[in-house]
Amino acid sequence: MSENASLYSTYNRIPLRFERGEGVWLVTEDGSRYLDFAGGIAVTSMGHAHPHLVEALKQQAERLWHLSNLYEIPDQTRLADRLTRATFADRAFFTNSGAEALECAIKTARRFHYVNGHEERIDIITIEGAFHGRTLATIAAGGQAKYLEGFGPKASGFIQVPFGDMDAMRNAVGETTAAVLVEPVQGEGGIRELPAQYLRDLRALCDENGVLLALDEVQCGVGRTGRLFAHEWAGITPDIMAVAKGIGGGFPFGVCLATEEAASGMNPGTHGTTYGGNPLAMAVGNAVLDVLLEDGFLEHVRDVSLVFKQGLAAIADKYPDVVEEIRGTGLMLGVKCKVPNSEFLVAMRDQNLLGAPAGDNVVRLLPPLTTTAEEARDGLSRLDAAAAALSSGTS
Ligand SMILES: *Cc1c(COP(=O)(O)O)cnc(C)c1O
Repeated sequence: MSENASLYSTYNRIPLRFERGEGVWLVTEDGSRYLDFAGGIAVTSMGHAHPHLVEALKQQAERLWHLSNLYEIPDQTRLADRLTRATFADRAFFTNSGAEALECAIKTARRFHYVNGHEERIDIITIEGAFHGRTLATIAAGGQAKYLEGFGPKASGFIQVPFGDMDAMRNAVGETTAAVLVEPVQGEGGIRELPAQYLRDLRALCDENGVLLALDEVQCGVGRTGRLFAHEWAGITPDIMAVAKGIGGGFPFGVCLATEEAASGMNPGTHGTTYGGNPLAMAVGNAVLDVLLEDGFLEHVRDVSLVFKQGLAAIADKYPDVVEEIRGTGLMLGVKCKVPNSEFLVAMRDQNLLGAPAGDNVVRLLPPLTTTAEEARDGLSRLDAAAAALSSGTS
């Protein structure tokens, strides 16, 4: 649009102008209300303007915005303590984004081998369809041609194997492997879940070969699947994990978590960030955890997920010419479309419902974790109407 002529044209923007948000709702400048099941792509985990998050940010804004990591930042230590207590991890490094959390994960893995006398272990093995971010290293990790094209030589040391193929993974792991990096549930790749058995086999494979297991839970973590982190469903733990999106609830930050051993190469001077872990971000992160760790919160996510899954299954049955299948887990759901997913998203917007596109012709539904059963049913009836509008059976 001409209004955006002064911006990089990297986004084809939808002509909607939202002015404010309230829980699962976004409100345009002219007062139209949209049910937001895109959630800024799994970011607004607690909905828009959650009172506890707003209060935490306001209070911090009046006290102190920024400090360099040259100083102690008590709220950063507190959040790291809480995250490490709640997970496999012993150490945390805070970043501003998901891609930076992945950069830290990759550096941590290579550095671990370096300090252990294995300079040759630099390769990171990833899975086809992956998305790990848009920096030069993370587009190499993601391996998608559309994101690599025209940006010069692909960063070396990234190898990719087909999705869900353990034999290919076994063949790829070798003497120069530093880490295997996977999303337990691929988000941008089309809501594709790695089977629990695959993750368990992967853990064993890494252990047998002295290779680190790094997980990208930027999208599927932070309660999204109904457990604190998605890998918990498989009963495994990684050595390193990148987290972002939902952890900030809309305040931009991420974190790389690691075991004491995996992080052992990251000593003073090896890595740094100006903004990562700044007091504003940490105030919001602690507030997100307050809600996330409340008794019964994850149970709520699982309950509402069931409402979605039943409703989506019914829609898939009713409109077989529009919906091919329903995918996903928790509140990370995908509608694989028979019509182009872009058309389905337009039909949803006509019902004042927002979703997000994904690869493999999927529409992603990533509602806030605070979505109520009633709001889920409201969204499902809008989805039904969107599918009906596209179905030849009813149009
Ligand atoms: C969004 C995303 C990233 C990148 O996060 P940014 O904050 O955009 O840098 C990395 N990995 C996964 C799985 C993601 O969904």
